[in-house]
Amino acid sequence: RTYALAKELALGGKGCDLHEGADVCTDSKHCQAWQSVEELKGKWGENFEKYYSKISQAVDSTRGLVMVYQDALILPVYHAISGGRTENSEDVWQKKIPYLRSVVSPGEEVASKYKTTVVVSQAEFVKKLKERQPSLKLTSNNILSEIKNIERTQAGHVKTLKIGDVTFEGKEIKELFGLNSTNFTFSEQKDDIVITVIGYGHGVGMSQYGANALAKDGKKFDEILKYYYQGIEIVKIEDLLKGKH
Ligand SMILES: [Zn+2]
Repeated sequence: RTYALAKELALGGKGCDLHEGADVCTDSKHCQAWQSVEELKGKWGENFEKYYSKISQAVDSTRGLVMVYQDALILPVYHAISGGRTENSEDVWQKKIPYLRSVVSPGEEVASKYKTTVVVSQAEFVKKLKERQPSLKLTSNNILSEIKNIERTQAGHVKTLKIGDVTFEGKEIKELFGLNSTNFTFSEQKDDIVITVIGYGHGVGMSQYGANALAKDGKKFDEILKYYYQGIEIVKIEDLLKGKH
C-alpha cells in the first residue's frame, strides 16, 4: 500500500512510466504484483480459502495505514531470507536510505532455502568467469588460492572479491552462477567448486522469514515493520494527506 501510494501522480509520485497517465500497473517486474481471484484459485488450488482469508484479514486490519519517514512515504523493499542480518541500502544500491539499516534477523534457519549450494566443475567455473572477463588469467589448478581480498558488507554479503588478477563484484558472481544471494563462500570437492550460499534475495529491508519468526514470537505487525524499517512511523493516509504528519 505504501509502495503503490508513493507512485500516485496526484501525490507527486512518478506514476508508471510504461503506461502514460497511470499511477501503477500490474506487472510485478515493473510496478506491483497483482493477480485476480481466478488466477489465485488456479495457483493455490485447495489452499485458496486459507491463503485468501489470511491476506484479506491482513489488508482489512491495516486498512488506510502507510509507512512514513520524516513525513514522506517510504520505499518498503523486502526479500525472502536475509541470512541472519539485513543489509544497509548503500551496500547494495549505493544510495544511503536512513530507514534501510542492517539489523539482525533471527529465526530464518527454518526456511528450506536458507542455505543452498551450487556445484560447478572447475573447468566450467573458469569458463564462465572468462566469458565475463576475457582478460582473466586463471587455470583449473588451485582456483581457491586465486580467490582473494573478499570484501563483505555488514550483513556478510560479498561486495567485491579478486579472482586471479581481476576484481569481481559479488553481484556478478551471483548472476554468473545463478546464486540466491551474494552471501557465499567457496570450497572444493574433487574436481568441483562448491559455492555455499546463505539467504535468498537482496537482503535490504524486511525479511519475510524473519518477519514470520517475529510474528510467531508474539510481535505485532507495527513492531515488526518498525524493526525492519528503522525510525519510521505508521500513519493513516488521510492524516498524511491533511498534512498532520
Ligand atoms: Zn508499471
